[in-house]
Amino acid sequence: MNVNQSAPPMPPYGQSQPVYPGYPQSSYGGQPGSTMSPTPYGASYNGPVPGYQQTPPPGVSRAPPSSGAPPASPAQAYGQFGQGDVQNGPSSTVQMQRHPGSQPFGSAPLAPMVSQPAVLHPYGPPPTSTEVTAQLAGMHLSGAAAPAPPPAGLAYSPPASLASASGSFPNSGLYGSYPQGQASPLNLAQGHPGAQPPQRSAPPQAPSFTSPASGGPRMPSVTGPLLPGQGFGGPPVSQPNHVSSPPPQALPPSTQMAGPPGPPLPMHSSQPGYQLQQNGSFGPVRGPQPNYGSPYPGTPTFGSQPGPPQPLPPKRLDPDAIPSPIQVIEDDRNNRGSEPFVTGVRGQMPPLVTTNFQVKDQGNASPRYIRCTSYNIPCTSDMAKQAQVPLAAVIKPLARLPPEEASPYVVDHGESGPLRCNRCKAYMCPFMQFIEGGRRFQCCFCSCINDVPPQYFQHLDHTGKRVDAYDRPELSLGSYEFLATVDYCKNNKFPSPPAFIFMIDVSYNAIRSGLVRLLCEELKTLLDFLPREGGAEESAIRVGFVTYNKVLHFYNVKSSLAQPQMMVVSDVADMFVPLLDGFLVNVNESRTVITSLLDQIPEMFADTRETETVFAPVIQAGMEALKAAECAGKLFLFHTSLPIAEAPGKLKNRDDRKLINTDKEKTLFQPQTGAYQTLAKECVAQGCCVDLFLFPVENDQERFLSDLCRDVQKVVGFDAVMRVRTSTGIRAVDFFGAFYMSNTTDVELAGLDVDKTVTVEFKHDDRLNEESGALLQCALLYTSCSGQRRLRIHNLALNCCTQLADLYRNCETDTLINYMAKFAYRGVLNSPVKTVRDTLITQCAQILACYRKNCASPSSAGQLILPECMKLLPVYLNCVLKSDVLQPGAEVTTDDHAYVRQLVTSMDVAETNVFFYPRLLPLTKAPIENTTEPPAVRASEERLSNGDIYLLENGLNLFLWVGASVQQGVVQSLFNVSSFSHITSGLSVLPVLDNPLSKKVRGLIDSLRAQRSRYMKLIVVKQEDKLEMLFKHFLVEDKNLSGGASYVDFLCHMHKEIQQLLS
Ligand SMILES: [Zn+2]
Repeated sequence: MNVNQSAPPMPPYGQSQPVYPGYPQSSYGGQPGSTMSPTPYGASYNGPVPGYQQTPPPGVSRAPPSSGAPPASPAQAYGQFGQGDVQNGPSSTVQMQRHPGSQPFGSAPLAPMVSQPAVLHPYGPPPTSTEVTAQLAGMHLSGAAAPAPPPAGLAYSPPASLASASGSFPNSGLYGSYPQGQASPLNLAQGHPGAQPPQRSAPPQAPSFTSPASGGPRMPSVTGPLLPGQGFGGPPVSQPNHVSSPPPQALPPSTQMAGPPGPPLPMHSSQPGYQLQQNGSFGPVRGPQPNYGSPYPGTPTFGSQPGPPQPLPPKRLDPDAIPSPIQVIEDDRNNRGSEPFVTGVRGQMPPLVTTNFQVKDQGNASPRYIRCTSYNIPCTSDMAKQAQVPLAAVIKPLARLPPEEASPYVVDHGESGPLRCNRCKAYMCPFMQFIEGGRRFQCCFCSCINDVPPQYFQHLDHTGKRVDAYDRPELSLGSYEFLATVDYCKNNKFPSPPAFIFMIDVSYNAIRSGLVRLLCEELKTLLDFLPREGGAEESAIRVGFVTYNKVLHFYNVKSSLAQPQMMVVSDVADMFVPLLDGFLVNVNESRTVITSLLDQIPEMFADTRETETVFAPVIQAGMEALKAAECAGKLFLFHTSLPIAEAPGKLKNRDDRKLINTDKEKTLFQPQTGAYQTLAKECVAQGCCVDLFLFPVENDQERFLSDLCRDVQKVVGFDAVMRVRTSTGIRAVDFFGAFYMSNTTDVELAGLDVDKTVTVEFKHDDRLNEESGALLQCALLYTSCSGQRRLRIHNLALNCCTQLADLYRNCETDTLINYMAKFAYRGVLNSPVKTVRDTLITQCAQILACYRKNCASPSSAGQLILPECMKLLPVYLNCVLKSDVLQPGAEVTTDDHAYVRQLVTSMDVAETNVFFYPRLLPLTKAPIENTTEPPAVRASEERLSNGDIYLLENGLNLFLWVGASVQQGVVQSLFNVSSFSHITSGLSVLPVLDNPLSKKVRGLIDSLRAQRSRYMKLIVVKQEDKLEMLFKHFLVEDKNLSGGASYVDFLCHMHKEIQQLLS
């Protein structure tokens, strides 16, 4: 058994977003929100940072705040209602009885795949591409150029309540911390205001690549292999996006020391003026590098000790001389954004995820559904091992499409069901080869010859193609759906429409914060916007309501009742559902009763003194309710405190920061109790998704409502099984995402939504054939929001190669990073973080060294040469390495870790791209009448001009940075105040002003929010203000306070690693 990702209740998914005209929220129609815990990660960053709060030192017990918490009164308030008592309605006795549980999930007829030679249609030749030599000229390590340490007490200030984090819900990625439940209501401002030990600051001795300021003659290097700095140099590359450096310049022979003995190679120096220092830092010695104090050698104290001042202010390497993400993105937009991407060609590289492009399906799945790390796979496993390039596909089976692209056609093969290969069970697709005049077809996955059923027979044309090929989606398109027959349904019974159950914490915290009132009010409107199938008049989804603290209250909202009825279940250790009839109802039929209930809930619990909550029993109850109703569905949980009441799944505070950077660090990511894993498995089997909304602190109303709206409307495919079949030679061996697997092939999901992704890794089990290529077929069996059982099929054909160069020409770095981040984020569950980081660095170095050795044209060993497609691998990998999971700063709580870890696990390529390398947009550089999105600049402080304003976003966070010298007119237009000093730091809403700049900036913010699946709360940051530290954390090309290397430093480190591998 393998609970992958130890993910708790799963996510949802759906199809094209219904449009709800007239719904009064501008963010509608955007991407529905997250599943696991829509309380965004941003809570720790996003929220206004109320003064400085510091995490109490580990081990110090935190007393509850003295703010008059009511005494915890165990279950008193409702204790009088025994199980099944009916309250608030006609006095009647309800018979409690257990409903028989539903049967175990009858697996769909997905049989094991059998490998056989494949027969493929030939496709056109693979596209060619070029390689780039990245030249790092004259860089060397030396001390200096370290940013000044932040003022004491400045660093990140987590919101008050986060300071006491520790909740660590099992694997849920909850975000945010829980108050110390006992008797302490929401007021968690237990942080210790005051002095914070200085955050790690970059010390003067911090490594940076610099050179003496004077542009004197190049100093000869010391004789010996691979001397410092010699590694850099190479043919100049003129592309501005790459390394731009002055023309090559041959060095005196005496300096050509790099590389193994042999004829001296010309060494290109570049940047005349840059000199190499002989500090040994590029030597072959591994281990702690004197001048590379960053994370790699395991010196997390990077930056903590000031070093001696540098005698000469060294000149830094020109950052323009190293590959720029911005330039690569811009080039791709310019080169590929205008033409549609037509999927008819095998192994064709799609445009980057950052490019807007249209897709025309001509036989392969759109890159919106599947992206691969490489579109040309090595023919042998030896080659693959040599290259170390992971072979993986990032699959988003229900991805939302832009309006101009049609949703997959639904194909109905009638009672016989979808046509499949008898042996490997692959579904009919454009790559199946019809033979014998159309009477048989040969499977493109396993080569088995199958009879064509009489009703499916069609003649072939002179090319051997069926004459009806273009009339049938399954013979001509990369993506389509089949209507499933009853054989594909649980218990051989077509499913009922799914249900949504709203489960609302009504403990003291929830009531006092206003959450319950806000939520009940919002639900009255939201229930009109449940997902609908196609053009259906109303949603088929039924709804139910539960409230809870230490006990659970179920509500009967049957349409025939005058008033809702409450039933209390206090035996949380053995949860069951007290009513069936009237619990799950149609919104329109029961509207009056539901409205009445939503009006009454805040009043009923207004005077509650109950502070303790249960959690696992709530999920259990929702799951049991779905089981009893024999349907799949989704639970929406709104929860405010660590579940400390005596019950299954009880948790305790455990944010032990002493464990960070120790071998026990992984325990912080692991579930505190096995109860949730067991529960998660049961939920998957029942098709029960669980969406958690957690409120550790005061709720952020705007964000909560926005995420809730998206989440409720999001179309979800329930009770899903995904299977990826491959042609002979490779097979899917590993899976990343939020799901459960009870065998090695079937990915089982309670549900999957439009935003959720599964990353699949492939390995060779045989030799591949250049001629036939390789095929993937992803089949997702799911129940739609109207209860229809369907199969969504995506097919993708890839090229295979015998030359490594072909592999390196067809890799997609964004997808590689998605895979590597997920691999690493899963790794921290079982291995020390340092080991995980080292593994990533080693793999990256091996990938690049293999290229250098086998594919690059001969050149000095000192050169760093990167494949064109991978020239951003170092910068992006560095972003992953310095992310909050792999290199947490002092301000990142355990809950933040867990939340981000969980979030990344289900991200698609576009999301990981911007999450790891945020977008930084200058707002005042372009003319105001220019309405297009401004081109981004690199995420580095050097790119900020103090006369401008910038937006920064990463999918979770949104900052508006205001330079100190911004023109007064701009300040007035945007903030409606007279000067920079009057701008409120931390502002989260821009005033609505009637001028072009204000409109443009607010419009851009809306547009950025609409592009992302979660609401991004805005924070206005003023230059030199203390909030700026928060903002700078996202300037990922720079060093950061938790020890993350700058891009330049990391690139040099990577170069050194590669050289060591080559030597
Ligand atoms: Zn087959």
